[in-house]
Amino acid sequence: MKIAILSRNPRLYSTRRLVEAAEARGHEIHVIDTLRTYMNITSHKPSIHYKGEELTGYDAVIPRIGASVTFYGAAVLRQFEMMGVYPLNESVAITRSRDKLRSLQLLSRRGVGLPVTGFAHSPDDIPDLISMVGGAPLVIKLLEGTQGIGVVLCETEKAAESVLEAFMGLKANIMVQEYIKEAGGADIRCLVVGDKVIAAMKRQAKAGEFRSNLHRGGSASLIKITPEERMTAVRAAKVMGLNVAGVDILRSNHGPVVMEVNSSPGLEGIETTTGKDVATLLIQHIEKNARPHQTRTRGRG
Ligand code: ADP
Ligand code: MG
Repeated sequence: MKIAILSRNPRLYSTRRLVEAAEARGHEIHVIDTLRTYMNITSHKPSIHYKGEELTGYDAVIPRIGASVTFYGAAVLRQFEMMGVYPLNESVAITRSRDKLRSLQLLSRRGVGLPVTGFAHSPDDIPDLISMVGGAPLVIKLLEGTQGIGVVLCETEKAAESVLEAFMGLKANIMVQEYIKEAGGADIRCLVVGDKVIAAMKRQAKAGEFRSNLHRGGSASLIKITPEERMTAVRAAKVMGLNVAGVDILRSNHGPVVMEVNSSPGLEGIETTTGKDVATLLIQHIEKNARPHQTRTRGRG
């Protein structure tokens, strides 16, 4: 097969591993810098150009679109989809997953366990909003943050009010969430491919920190997940419409709750921690599923 990876940097661990795995299985694979592609969107035949040439003959595209280039990246991926190229994750599903609030609304509608979460616009509604999620301590999140930045733990209601007022004053979109204290600063990253969790790891926040993100100094270890956690992760990916997803789960007193669903999960942490060859499993998923003109969400939002 001929495969494209949309990635800004061929030296990134995940990109390198995917290239290695694809080549080892006899595929032709090219890393394409998302921001260097351009397209004529009105042309009769959809096409994508890259550094002076037209991209043709691709069977599949692997989107590795960073949060900062979501808008452009989704447009490029959509163009591939219109050309009939099989995307490992579809553009609509990726856009969905980048908005935490929209994701939680979709998951909640389908009965996936979530931390109690609220959303408001007016500072006048702050006291009610806080009591709605059960009072302090609580977590406040920027809707489009990543790597733990923009996630704040407020120990008291007074602190929560001040932070909420400040964010609202800055016109930032935020949500308020019940603090799952019993998770003890740990979460579980489940890597879902198709309808299976193919690898899972526990991430533990460093001392004095509640955010378990590896970028915030968290450490990863192996973990055995329960059948309920496995089912929750697979359902969450399915509801989001993602073939590949990093589903982050907290162990709460009311069962596993999904914190977020990541559409471009990093491979380094999970491969090093679990020893699994995730890159090859992703390429095999493409081999099994890639057929032309299969984008399910084509034409729908
Ligand atoms: P980001 O997209 O920035 O990673 P997350 O929503 O995943 O944002 O939050 C970052 C980290 O903060 C999580 O990995 C988790 O350890 C911690 N965290 C987030 N929300 C909660 C919560 N409601 N209760 C307890 N810990 C939380
Ligand atoms: Mg996270």
